[in-house]
Amino acid sequence: MLELQNLSVHYDKVEAVRGVSLHVGQGQTVCLIGANGAGKSSILRSICGLQKPSGGQIHYQGLRIDGKTPQHIVKLGIVQVPEGRRLFKLMTVRENLGLGAYLQPRAQIQQDMEAVFERFPILREKQHQAAGKLSGGQQQMVAIGRALMARPKLLLLDEPSLGLSPKLMDEIAELIGQLKASGLAILLIEQNAHMALALADYGYVLAVGQCVLQDTGSELKQNPEVARAYLGGA
Ligand code: ATP
Repeated sequence: MLELQNLSVHYDKVEAVRGVSLHVGQGQTVCLIGANGAGKSSILRSICGLQKPSGGQIHYQGLRIDGKTPQHIVKLGIVQVPEGRRLFKLMTVRENLGLGAYLQPRAQIQQDMEAVFERFPILREKQHQAAGKLSGGQQQMVAIGRALMARPKLLLLDEPSLGLSPKLMDEIAELIGQLKASGLAILLIEQNAHMALALADYGYVLAVGQCVLQDTGSELKQNPEVARAYLGGA
């Protein structure tokens, strides 16, 4: 479904990503783990069309998409939930959700909002409240709900557990598990390797811009190198 071939990203002379290749199959959950500054967000921004790669190619459903605009890429069904959620905090939950549907036909919006409320009943209750008043976990639900409003085929999740308590992290992990069960393909970017590897069919480990390891989620979890570097020695 998504194929990165030898992707590189530079910011002027700074090389953030060097020759990364990765694959997300239909309905698969794939994670990208690595420390701060490893290049995870740069890869994600390239897939979304927000950052032009300096080398390599990105293909999605057989189509070359590097160099396409972010709007074009959203229309193809690749939708991002950005790091830090990026909600409009003074706008209501409902208004924030509506923003995700800006490329969708009007007739569809009400039906899709209803589907989001069914998935996240708490958001129906809080739909008229300012998004900034919600808890961190609920704000993450709004961010995911907003992405679902764009009818994604491939969801890109950038650090969904960031800043959440362990309990809320569990809730978000469960939610991602439900999205996966619904057949959505997911590329999950996480510093929380525990959570990511528990959810992922396949994972890539990134260090200073390069892919240093790749395997199934369960194999990576048992890999002593990964355990030492990313799972707190577990
Ligand atoms: P984080 O978890 O902190 O988001 P990351 O793994 O997503 O880290 P990136 O944000 O992709 O990593 O950053 C990779 C490298 O590129 C880092 O060295 C970072 O300092 C650099 N970098 C990222 N964005 C820019 C930018 N706009 N200008 C210059 N350098 C950048």
